[in-house]
Amino acid sequence: MQTLTTNRFRTGKGIKLIDDSGVEYLDGVSGTFNLSLGYNHPHVVSKIQEQVGNLTHMSSSFTEPYVDEVLDHLIEYAPNDINAGWMRDITGSTANECATKIAQKYTQSTDIISLYLSHHGQTQFATGISGNAFRRKRFPNSAVANSVHVPAPYCYRCPFKSSSGDCEYQCVEAISDAIEYASSGSVACMIIEPILGNGGNIIPPAGYFKRLRKLCDEYNIILIADEVQTGIGRTGYMFASELFDIQPDMITLAKGLGGIGVPVAAVLMQSRLNVLEKHEHSFTSGSNLISVTAAKSTLEVVSEPGFLDDVKRKGEILGGLLQDLAMKYPSIGEARGVGLMWGLEMVGDNNEPDTDKTNAIIDRAFTDEHLILRGSRYGFGNVVKVRPSLTTTEDELVEIVERLDSVLASVH
Ligand code: PMP
Repeated sequence: MQTLTTNRFRTGKGIKLIDDSGVEYLDGVSGTFNLSLGYNHPHVVSKIQEQVGNLTHMSSSFTEPYVDEVLDHLIEYAPNDINAGWMRDITGSTANECATKIAQKYTQSTDIISLYLSHHGQTQFATGISGNAFRRKRFPNSAVANSVHVPAPYCYRCPFKSSSGDCEYQCVEAISDAIEYASSGSVACMIIEPILGNGGNIIPPAGYFKRLRKLCDEYNIILIADEVQTGIGRTGYMFASELFDIQPDMITLAKGLGGIGVPVAAVLMQSRLNVLEKHEHSFTSGSNLISVTAAKSTLEVVSEPGFLDDVKRKGEILGGLLQDLAMKYPSIGEARGVGLMWGLEMVGDNNEPDTDKTNAIIDRAFTDEHLILRGSRYGFGNVVKVRPSLTTTEDELVEIVERLDSVLASVH
């Protein structure tokens, strides 16, 4: 088995992980982008400790009052008349399955449309609907029937070789072509990530989501925003759907909802889509009280007055610093992001994707600079991701970028 490191980390605080020998590492990617509040956030820890002292678990038949508190809080922020929710999942993968099951049950249609380069999870079904054959090819059974993949709005490497501004949204046109010619003729939903996270921090161009919404309305397709990475303040908004005015019919959440890495997931939907019977999508630990408490206390922090404005402000700082790096190093083809969700597209002399350099940067950041980063595994694997916790201080943002600068200077 491959391991990233032989270090054994004992404790963590904020964005720091401390190993056995007392060496501190800066985590520039919030674990797996899930520690929205960093390691051991005191408010979440104390609420969990209190809950552990009272009750850790009971059957989901009795957890509704707890779950409803979380859902009500989420719904306060939700766009487009989303006013119902489901919280019986533990992972983003099954939350996405919940959403697609709902869409199929509601529409009585079969097909699921998703983007090339998208990542919706690693259960067999979520792998199947994700837009990258590389994940599927080792598991021949994971191709999902009725899953239709369509080109992603990846402007830096436009699938239609257009340059931004003159494209006439051929990637949206391609979706209506796929609906007309490649689907079974019975499409239930389209699932999208507001920013293609694992695909390489790809942000669709202005006007894309408006066209997508129109298309979904024309064909009566349910639009699902997979906000497993972008949700809970990551972009400076509770939901990226608000930032990009996506107007989805459903939103799926996981990762950051658990604040300090506690597994929990949720599906939000318009009330017309609240069609599942309890037994139709429910997992033993799905509304476990520790998970629900983590979500509740995380939302308490994220919705404190000024918290999201602070994320927006820190996002501008981080973005500015990374743009400066992109000016300094020609090997950074593009620095793109919003809020605290950034990616550096690493390129060679002719702008071709440079996966080796990406991997070298991530390795050296860890060994030489004690900085934890991650690379994209999807697409060309040539994007270095920078996504620190929402609680990262301004000084820590500067420190992350300084360490990254040293690494970039040493990697040729
Ligand atoms: N959707 C997106 C956008 C993700 O990034 C991920 C995980 N990387 C998932 C779904 C799956 O979430 P989980 O790992 O909790 O199943």
